[in-house]
Amino acid sequence: MEKDVDINRVARQHLEMDVFFSGGFTPKAKASQPKLQPQQDNAAVANAAAELEKIADEVRQCHKCGLGSLRTNAVPGEGNPNARILFVGEGPGADEDAQGRPFVGRAGKLLDKVIKACGLKRTDVYIANILKCRPPENRDPRPDEIINCFPYLQRQIELINPEIIVALGAPATRTLLNTNKSIGQLRGQFHEYYAGLGRPPIKLMPTYHTAYLLRNYSQENRKKVWEDMKKVLTELGLPIPETPKK
Ligand code: URA
Repeated sequence: MEKDVDINRVARQHLEMDVFFSGGFTPKAKASQPKLQPQQDNAAVANAAAELEKIADEVRQCHKCGLGSLRTNAVPGEGNPNARILFVGEGPGADEDAQGRPFVGRAGKLLDKVIKACGLKRTDVYIANILKCRPPENRDPRPDEIINCFPYLQRQIELINPEIIVALGAPATRTLLNTNKSIGQLRGQFHEYYAGLGRPPIKLMPTYHTAYLLRNYSQENRKKVWEDMKKVLTELGLPIPETPKK
């Protein structure tokens, strides 16, 4: 989760991010129009949107764990109910808690750049978290909090039925895959998320969390995230923008 950082470092990172994830290259093809999933007709999408809103209402009233009394706002998640890609993070930070929206702080700005670098818009994808409320001081989620909160995300996944889940960081990946392996071991290859009996598994790509990228801002780490996202685009049959230059 996000920690306090030096302002000069932040300014330099923003410049580098602009070059690496958006400014330093041009997509080979026009930003793609992600196609709707064939099984989701308009009525099904409208139904998914309505059900997602019901879950969001439940989340906003949730007091299943202590985080419910500490939050300013719950952060249910947001995006396209018919998204082909679902990004899953760990849990809200201070900015998300203040606004009730996922990934709107520094890590969120970087996620926006990653999405843009893929030739997509934030409104093309869905963005959610394992925890819907901010843990105090951005500490790691506790097992009891995950156990209480994860069913909301499981229901969201069933409704959105994305083709690919991009799990950002270790807590999201470990929870979704029910494993204790490290993100270094898991990232870079597709795994399978099981949404329920009788449903085909959903492909899951673990990658580094954008907050981790900000804290460990090396060319190598950015490249790894870009490699992971290229695999996602290829799997979806979407055009791959040219490799970022820096
Ligand atoms: N980090 C997360 O994991 N989720 C957010 O919504 C913001 C930062």
